[in-house]
Amino acid sequence: MAAKLRVVVLGAGFGGLELTTILSEKIGTQLDLTLIDKSDSFFFGFSKFDVMFGRKTAGQVRVYYKHIVKSGVRFIQDTVTTIDPVSKKVETQSGATYEADILVIALGADYDVAATPGLAEGGNEFYSFAGAEKLREVLPSFSKGNVIVGVCAAPFKCPPAPSEAALLMHDYLEKRGIRKNCTISIVMPFGLPIPPSPDTSLALMDAFAEREIRFIPKHVVKAIDPSRKVAMLEDGEEMPFDLFLGIPKHRVPKVVEDSGMTEKGWIPVSKDNLKTKYPGVYAIGDVNSVGTPKAGVFAEGAAKVAAASIIADYERGEEPEAYKGNGICYIEFGDGRVGQVNVDFFSGPSPFGTYTKASDELVADKEHFGSSRVSRWFGI
Ligand SMILES: Cc1cc2nc3c(=O)[nH]c(=O)nc-3n(C[C@H](O)[C@H](O)[C@H](O)COP(=O)(O)OP(=O)(O)OC[C@H]3O[C@@H](n4cnc5c(N)ncnc54)[C@H](O)[C@@H]3O)c2cc1C
Repeated sequence: MAAKLRVVVLGAGFGGLELTTILSEKIGTQLDLTLIDKSDSFFFGFSKFDVMFGRKTAGQVRVYYKHIVKSGVRFIQDTVTTIDPVSKKVETQSGATYEADILVIALGADYDVAATPGLAEGGNEFYSFAGAEKLREVLPSFSKGNVIVGVCAAPFKCPPAPSEAALLMHDYLEKRGIRKNCTISIVMPFGLPIPPSPDTSLALMDAFAEREIRFIPKHVVKAIDPSRKVAMLEDGEEMPFDLFLGIPKHRVPKVVEDSGMTEKGWIPVSKDNLKTKYPGVYAIGDVNSVGTPKAGVFAEGAAKVAAASIIADYERGEEPEAYKGNGICYIEFGDGRVGQVNVDFFSGPSPFGTYTKASDELVADKEHFGSSRVSRWFGI
């Protein structure tokens, strides 16, 4: 009997879970796959809004890895401490070593809060789970003044998320009857909220105008002065704030940087199949620099192509169709409505997106998006 294919997947987020699920479904009996994550549970990026605005508890949005029962797969909770892409060997904090025929890096993006002076002392961030949980405690004591949703550097995860945060903040303040005592501004490096889709951007700009949310394009927040409570933009402008909601600079996890696999901060991969320059090593999702936005739907799309490529190599079949870099993102517009943008980064000469108007129906679609993945990945 042929030896089983030893696959080690680092990171059980959007990308790692999708790739693991496909490999198990397609070649489970010939598979010896180890999925490693430092956490005991998964959560969707968008569930941080639920936590931060008190709509759900942390316990309600976490899905535990102990539920994973798949053919050819074992889940290990441990922190990856070294990655050798040449020998495809990985070490973890507990002292274990894993050797792979195929190594998949799906470790996502970390945050470099210290890269923005004053952010840790004078601001808040809602991009980490801990940051969202902290804001859940901070928000009820905020009653008046200037709110800034500020991007500190590009690239950042889920480009619609800052716009969603501002619109949901408007609803939150309205509900508490204190919106009239507050201003809301968004500082964003792009010229439009969603550059590949002018229609989606227009809908968001209309929603901002209706709610008197100020949109400041083509800027980032370089620093915070906690004593004067001002955010400093890179052109020297200063914006006073009473509540700063930051999107911190993103970076690869340190273990990825230490592996020597990065160029200009991220892991370069083939746009067609997500292979790195190291034979048998793939990098999918936020950790790579393939050219799509850092979002779960793109990590999932990349996982599908990488899984097909792994199977094709194993079975000596044909290489799969190249990665198209497309995906559907749901956008919370506030008032309980959800819109949708369908973006495609690689099929045409330039990225383009189509917009589906915000509606109550899309709320159900978004719920199904989440629940169908939980059922597929975790069997619950
Ligand atoms: C506020 C917010 C809203 C968002 N909304 C959306 C949305 O609506 N739609 C969408 O598509 N995307 C959204 N995103 C983005 C989405 O969450 C990420 O882009 C997506 O999760 C990336 O998938 P990934 O597999 O690359 O990495 P991740 O899902 O981040 O997974 C990486 C995994 O690696 C693990 N890990 C990291 N380092 C180590 C280590 N050293 N050892 C072991 N394990 C490690 C982590 O614990 C994690 O589980 C949102 C993000 C935010 C912050």
